[in-house]
Amino acid sequence: MKRRKFLLTSGLSLSLAAALGYKNTIKKIFTNDEFSDNISTNSLECEVFIENNTVKFNDKFSIATSLCNGCTTFCSVRALIDNNKVIKTFGNPYSLLSSDPWLDMQVSLKDSFLKLNDINSLNSRSTCCARGSSIHHKMYDEFRVTKALKRVGKRGENKWKSISIEELINEIVNGGNLFNEGYVDGLKSICNTKKLIDENNPDYGPVANQLCILGTADEGRQNFLTHRFAQSFGTINYLGHTAICGLSMRAGEAAYLDDFTSYAHLKPDYEHCKFLLNIATAPAQAGNPFKRQAHLLAQARTYNNLKYVCVTPNLTNADSFAVNENSRWIAIKPGEDLAFVMAMLRVIIENKFYNEKYLQIPSLKSQIALNDVSFTNASYLVCKDKNKEFLKDEGSILVIDSVDNKVKKADFVLQAILDFNGEVEYKNKKYQVQTSFNILKENSFLKSVKEYAKICDIKEEIIFELAKEFCSYGRCVATDCHGGTMHTTGFYTAYAIMMLGAMVGNLNHKGGMSVGGGKYASFNGKCFNLLSYKGKVKPFGTRIDRARKAYETSTEFKNKIKNNQNPYPAKDKWFAFTNALENEVLSSSANAYPYKLKALITWGANIVYGQNNNKDVIALLKDPSKAAPLFIAIDPFINETSIYADYIVPDSVLFETWGVLSPWAAYNTKTTHLRYPIVKSPNDTFKNQESICMDSFIIELAKALKLPSFGKNAIMDNEGNFYDLDRPQDFYLRAFLNVAMDEDELSDISDEELKISSLLEYKDSLKKICKDKWRKVAFLMSRGGRFAKKNTAYKNNALSNSYTKAIAIYNEKLGTSINSLTGKRYNGSVKYYPQSYADGSMIKMNKEFNLLAFSYKSNIFSSASATLDILKEIKYATYADINTKTAKKYNIKNADKIKISTKDSSIIAYARLKEGIYPNAIGIEYASARRAEGARDLIIDNVLIKAKKIRQTGVYYNRLGLDDISRLKYKGISDFVVGSNARTALAVKIEKI
Ligand code: SF4
Repeated sequence: MKRRKFLLTSGLSLSLAAALGYKNTIKKIFTNDEFSDNISTNSLECEVFIENNTVKFNDKFSIATSLCNGCTTFCSVRALIDNNKVIKTFGNPYSLLSSDPWLDMQVSLKDSFLKLNDINSLNSRSTCCARGSSIHHKMYDEFRVTKALKRVGKRGENKWKSISIEELINEIVNGGNLFNEGYVDGLKSICNTKKLIDENNPDYGPVANQLCILGTADEGRQNFLTHRFAQSFGTINYLGHTAICGLSMRAGEAAYLDDFTSYAHLKPDYEHCKFLLNIATAPAQAGNPFKRQAHLLAQARTYNNLKYVCVTPNLTNADSFAVNENSRWIAIKPGEDLAFVMAMLRVIIENKFYNEKYLQIPSLKSQIALNDVSFTNASYLVCKDKNKEFLKDEGSILVIDSVDNKVKKADFVLQAILDFNGEVEYKNKKYQVQTSFNILKENSFLKSVKEYAKICDIKEEIIFELAKEFCSYGRCVATDCHGGTMHTTGFYTAYAIMMLGAMVGNLNHKGGMSVGGGKYASFNGKCFNLLSYKGKVKPFGTRIDRARKAYETSTEFKNKIKNNQNPYPAKDKWFAFTNALENEVLSSSANAYPYKLKALITWGANIVYGQNNNKDVIALLKDPSKAAPLFIAIDPFINETSIYADYIVPDSVLFETWGVLSPWAAYNTKTTHLRYPIVKSPNDTFKNQESICMDSFIIELAKALKLPSFGKNAIMDNEGNFYDLDRPQDFYLRAFLNVAMDEDELSDISDEELKISSLLEYKDSLKKICKDKWRKVAFLMSRGGRFAKKNTAYKNNALSNSYTKAIAIYNEKLGTSINSLTGKRYNGSVKYYPQSYADGSMIKMNKEFNLLAFSYKSNIFSSASATLDILKEIKYATYADINTKTAKKYNIKNADKIKISTKDSSIIAYARLKEGIYPNAIGIEYASARRAEGARDLIIDNVLIKAKKIRQTGVYYNRLGLDDISRLKYKGISDFVVGSNARTALAVKIEKI
């Protein structure tokens, strides 16, 4: 009532609120609608009633379990369904992504509702975040595509005609003069694993590689697409979205863990951590798992006396005044986190704050003998010759035994010499070597703390105190980083941030760092290996992004050597240990280096919206002759990328979808989530009545291409029996069966729970596919996945699921790799670098472009939720955040319209002045400001759907960017080692307009 009274009496507030986007809220306050209840007004009826400790379900609704796609956390949720329509979502109390503590799977469904409503305890509360609570509106969005579409007119005009899905498959398989623009190769002619792309460069591989598939974050179906389609087709080119999201962090952690194959995530063990250092990340503001991380942080700072520091260019929701000095924000110059961390490392090494005994452990054998939790390669000997490899004896690592100073195999040494630089003798031969630790020390001592402090603009005393404090809590300390490292030196930054943990030995330690709790076997499990099939080929050749391959193994390099030419520079950059770079796909095809693509399939991908410096991406997609002659988008919406497609295949949305997946990180117990359609898709159907989605489309496309991985007898069980793969459920229900049968078999579901969990409609399919185990699979589905008990997380002071390889203080793969543009080796340990182009040359700021722009994640919007009109009622737009002192210098006031420009691009924004941002910087909240998916007029079959202006509001940050002058055309700046898209620390100027 107070709010109502206030608004009634304040015209000013009303206009302000209206201007800020609260129009609908205001309208509702003044309607004469009858309220059905005086307290809860017209809110939804309750789904359950609890009387005398008994649960009664409201018959008007059904409730089912699924996964949220509101961000890449993919939380397990329960959905309230009214007549095949999802009307509300809330957390699944069995899942650790939605509750902590979470319920034991044996707790009955009825009891789960009792516990959720327990007024005496918040323990079993299970919720969604703001976007998770509203994301279901996406399913009913007027811009959703439900039919197969073919473009009319030029690419990007957003004019389409509907065609049957069979017609679409026929056209893309056979090709032809599809748009009266000339002949286009169909997928049938590209599906060739025998013919080479280029006889002169056989290492490029077969013609099949000229199909590239761009996916998105794995929401549970990636294995289906990669293993059963891409690999069966024979293309090596499947890419996810990491390179435009958080690859610098992933690659830095991979270097630290010495594993560039699985790219494991590291996260703090929030629950038992005593001191946490967040650099280039902000838990509760963003990150993954967003909701769980925020919950764990709040719990730890409130109940466990966790002290934490956030070192970021701007103040975010991660900071909390409520816990006083337990939470602290330190402003840092954008892009200079590496200087700050190198300074901390220097202080730690110089003052011997590090855990020497831990760093001296040279092998897993010694670690076990000493009853420790992890070990490093700090004592390994690196040969100082040009190859920079470890000193080995027939593959065994050699170290200096601290007992007798003799060089021995690491497995036979308990404690090795840590800091050594000089000559050693082994088997009568002399070697010049230095230990990994000595290289780290040498690198961190290249600058004084004063110099580092000047670069990052954090006082020397603060750095010293933080370094000291970090090393003063034993091993219950952690570091974290994420998207703020997406700048040109982000890889070394993330590696260095993790390196702080090695100084105290926090990996695998309770309260330290965790690689996650593991997952149950799903696609390859006890009953089926669904990733394998008869006739599976192993794709080979060079990837379009030149990732996972050293330039030195290419024909180009070998030919130059053969012809006595200097092999450096290569025509462009190669990325020997990066897993995938979608920011390289179109530019590489346009430059025909290594080769030109013939077809592009995107699945939910949106590189135009997500990639910094996107002007070139648009130009290359727009013209079919440039980079992608045939472009098929599998997408339920026409986004900023699929708007340039030739064909649209409608995908399922959210709760209509299948999938199996596990959390990324920040969990310490074994966990696997699953999703199955809980409402019927409105999409057109195939002739077998299966609704069109990515999975069903791929099945029919593969059959048209006669690929061995789909159709008759495509699935084999582990006893040698064959089954057909004609529908998505043929694949996913078998994956569910694997999960249900992993380790101990799950319980059988009762008839009552089958009804409560809305699984009756699956009874026949479950019986047919899972046979006598069907009730176990239904039990699994009713809980939303499989979740080990919370008390399985630890074994004494160690995490139960431990990482067993050596932490790389020196990474041999990195240290032996060469920058293909310069011929120089990368440094194998962490070292300070200024912002750099791909050839390692410095990106200089000048008097004109003297501010640094960065983006930061929103706690409301994500790429997936930025079109939700309902969220715009909470936050109408995004702004250019500027420190008040800086704004004064430029005579800029709050809400002034400004132009932000790099030397290559510009954007328009409204200024928002605040104190909580580093001076001389511009911070922009991502994501908002859509340019498709309802933000542009859409014409299908001559019917116009008018754009919604509200979807355009905010700052289109990724329009900004810098070209990389050291590379071929169309290349924006990226991390100078691993190639991840750089969006932070862009040198800009601002003008009031
Ligand atoms: S954190 Fe992400 S996945 Fe979880 S509820 Fe929120 S939007 Fe959905």
